[in-house]
Amino acid sequence: MRDFYDIVVVGGGHSGVEAAFSAHKFGLSVALVSKSKKSLGRMSCNPSIGGLAKSRVVREVDALGGVLPRAADMSATQYRVLNRRKGPAVQSTRAQCDRKKYELSVQKILDENSNVAIIEGSASELIIEDGKIVGVVLSSGERIGAEAVVLATGTFLGGKIFIGDVEYPGGRIDENAETGLSESLKKMGLKILRFKTGTPPRIDGRTINYDNVRIQPGEEDYVPFSFDTMRKIPVDEQVPCYITYTTERTHRIIEKNLLKSALYGGKIVGIGPRYCPSIEVKVEKFPHHPRHIVFLEPEGIDTDEFYPNGVSNSLPEEVQLEMLRSIPGLEDVEMTKPGYAVEYDVVEPTQVLPTLELRDYKKIFLAGQILGTSGYEEAAGLGLLAGTNAALSVLGKDMITLPRYASYTGVMVDDLVFRGAD
Ligand SMILES: Cc1cc2nc3c(=O)[nH]c(=O)nc-3n(C[C@H](O)[C@H](O)[C@H](O)COP(=O)(O)OP(=O)(O)OC[C@H]3O[C@@H](n4cnc5c(N)ncnc54)[C@H](O)[C@@H]3O)c2cc1C
Repeated sequence: MRDFYDIVVVGGGHSGVEAAFSAHKFGLSVALVSKSKKSLGRMSCNPSIGGLAKSRVVREVDALGGVLPRAADMSATQYRVLNRRKGPAVQSTRAQCDRKKYELSVQKILDENSNVAIIEGSASELIIEDGKIVGVVLSSGERIGAEAVVLATGTFLGGKIFIGDVEYPGGRIDENAETGLSESLKKMGLKILRFKTGTPPRIDGRTINYDNVRIQPGEEDYVPFSFDTMRKIPVDEQVPCYITYTTERTHRIIEKNLLKSALYGGKIVGIGPRYCPSIEVKVEKFPHHPRHIVFLEPEGIDTDEFYPNGVSNSLPEEVQLEMLRSIPGLEDVEMTKPGYAVEYDVVEPTQVLPTLELRDYKKIFLAGQILGTSGYEEAAGLGLLAGTNAALSVLGKDMITLPRYASYTGVMVDDLVFRGAD
């Protein structure tokens, strides 16, 4: 490990990877600090890329040479075009991906196409001298000098996991939270918010009763996410998803146990990004809906695990199982992992400029969920912009902005930096 890089990116999730990859193209030395190489590009939640609006951002990331669209195509197991019956302006591609293969694809693209130095460790502090960023300190005590830093720490800063009344520090299931960096940001005078998000339980596909669910096959007529992808997957090689619905019994179980949910029992104070409402919220806010759709999505080719999209929750484990078993097709289901909610620190996003540089600290850029967004695609779009501008700032060149009228990523940035996320 060198003791100085032009740019240090902290966090190897979807935003950090794009930031490092885009910055290295300028011929600068770039280090990506990640807790482990194996977790680079990890999908925290659903094993899929794209969907409404998100697929636009994916196409923009591809047009700008990013990693995510290629990794999505390399790991896709199924493609569908949403809104096919509506006009082309609102049609969106969505790919189901093999979770493991997705992260391996990200690592392969980085390995084979860049000289980004991967430093395994946790950044615990930013080094600021005379109001200027000069590097980061790792929790091991090592110092890495940098001319510019991109922070892409996702849901890990001050992360706390909730499953019913069980709570413990964590940034993602089985991964530790980060505490030092939040303190460093607070000392710099930045306003920090608490946000929350959640994920559904995972289930064993061998215990699904396939007679009671509807199959949702893939489609032939789609355009891959990346211009680099030459081969489309024939329908008979694609892996199907399945559709089922919650029932009135499901809703009664949730209502009866609402106060045991971390979300409703008052344990979680954070607000949520405007996406992925939990099943508790859907049942409470839409009491007139007799059922909610649940997509059963395979986690990959070499695993029996499924992701039941639509039942994200923070109920106690035993209630989660009871709730799942009230859904047709899941009468005898076994849960492989419980769903959970995670609460984490967010840097209030109006503190950054449209270039994603902090207003009050030059050459510190923020990207991804740390800015209050949610989603792999959103994180990738922001990471690409932050990495590009970090490089341009080091080179002393004009930074770029993505105008609202010209790109979906630009709309997202504009909303974040001028309207905030709360
Ligand atoms: C429980 C849960 C449910 C979600 N549900 C959905 C959903 O349904 N749909 C959706 O689109 N999105 C969902 N998301 C959000 C999506 O996963 C994130 O928006 C996306 O992964 C954000 O990318 P990121 O790069 O900002 O952060 P992350 O993907 O979280 O990556 C951050 C990386 O930074 C590393 N890191 C953090 N701090 C440090 C440090 N100090 N030093 C070194 N490394 C560090 C972490 O180890 C991690 O590798 C969910 C996330 C979670 C956790």
